[in-house]
Amino acid sequence: MADVAVIGAGVVGLSTAWMLAEAGTAVTVLDSSSSEGGASGRAHGEIVPPAATVQPLWRETLAIYQRLAEHNDFGWDHTPVGTIITADRGEEKLLLARKHANDTHRVATRLVRAPELKTVEPAVDLSDGCALLLTEGRKINPHKAVAALAGSARAAGAALRCGVTVVGLQRTAGRWRVMSSDGRIFEATKVVLATGLGTSQLAQEVGCRIPLVGVHGRILLTEPLPTTLTRIVSAISAGPAAFAATKTTLRDLATPTHKPAAVASLMHQRQDGRFAIGASWSPALLPEGRYPATRIAKAAIRRVPILADAVIEGSWSGVRPYAVDGRPVIDEIAEGLYTCCGHGGEGFILGPGSARLMSQIVLNRPPMCSTAEFSATRFSESLNKREP
Ligand SMILES: Cc1cc2nc3c(=O)[nH]c(=O)nc-3n(C[C@H](O)[C@H](O)[C@H](O)COP(=O)(O)OP(=O)(O)OC[C@H]3O[C@@H](n4cnc5c(N)ncnc54)[C@H](O)[C@@H]3O)c2cc1C
Repeated sequence: MADVAVIGAGVVGLSTAWMLAEAGTAVTVLDSSSSEGGASGRAHGEIVPPAATVQPLWRETLAIYQRLAEHNDFGWDHTPVGTIITADRGEEKLLLARKHANDTHRVATRLVRAPELKTVEPAVDLSDGCALLLTEGRKINPHKAVAALAGSARAAGAALRCGVTVVGLQRTAGRWRVMSSDGRIFEATKVVLATGLGTSQLAQEVGCRIPLVGVHGRILLTEPLPTTLTRIVSAISAGPAAFAATKTTLRDLATPTHKPAAVASLMHQRQDGRFAIGASWSPALLPEGRYPATRIAKAAIRRVPILADAVIEGSWSGVRPYAVDGRPVIDEIAEGLYTCCGHGGEGFILGPGSARLMSQIVLNRPPMCSTAEFSATRFSESLNKREP
């Protein structure tokens, strides 16, 4: 019997397993797919500064990647390349100026106009736009990072079992019985649900409401090009603003011509020279359609004109697991049952840091930051079983 069963082998589950196993806990990770089944295998690979409320998780994540890189070569460069947040239309420019004035990222930023931007990052051409330069911003290879986390979890003693689809959870005699679809039963003293979008359903098993929404995202990948872009380039409308446009109503589902995806320019040049260009945000409940790719291409060319002739070598989409309020859930939801989920488009930005906090909660150790923002009780005071 394991001390802790972690369900889900994405970036969050593997990081949690690693932290717990390093602390001397007997950990078993269970996952339904053979590899990269969830959102973690579909990510874009950008580690940009998040909103202030979640920055403790992001900073811890950066420290964890640095430590991970000591034993695993997953292409991590701890020196930031920086991020350029662009605005080239009236209301976008206002939004950017406000972001700068409020210092919402709480990292060193500088507002530059188009001509100066040309000297800083020559490939980016905004005509009469402006941009915020952030010193922070790093690139990550999501596949290599997940493999490195799995390696470190194993090296610390965690057992990884793929092909196990968990369909039920039962608490008997002070321990959890984890039931799989093929009739197997795994016993553990504690269970962590790191099941991405699948968490709502498993939490429901114990009467806990964790509302998550799936948001499609599409990425385009070019042929290798000579090195032309150093920083991550993003549009001011990327992220939370784009996510806000993805709520689905019954009218959306009932209307044959459903609302178009939100699209915002978000790109970087990978170590192999390929440009990974995104991204769209559209409700996973609706078919993605072909227009997101067209609009991603248009938005990319508008900011980096030299991309117009780049040959597209690949394209993929995945589903981001967002909590409905856009903030992760890191909490105990029943006695000995925990969840770490809802990272939306920021699972690589926040996931390992969230896992650190999760492991501290599981092990009853002092938490590294306030846990109130990540509590599951925010969705349903009456259903959550923890005492305040
Ligand atoms: C197109 C796209 C681009 C993105 N770009 C970025 C980016 O640039 N930066 C960033 O930080 N984030 C990005 N993200 C978001 C990031 O990928 C996710 O936030 C992150 O992968 C979520 O990790 P997770 O471990 O919570 O979930 P997942 O990776 O989905 O892992 C959950 C795991 O649980 C397993 N599972 C589910 N249900 C069960 C069950 N019942 N039984 C057993 N196993 C189960 C699944 O097989 C899966 O392996 C992007 C996402 C997408 C789709």
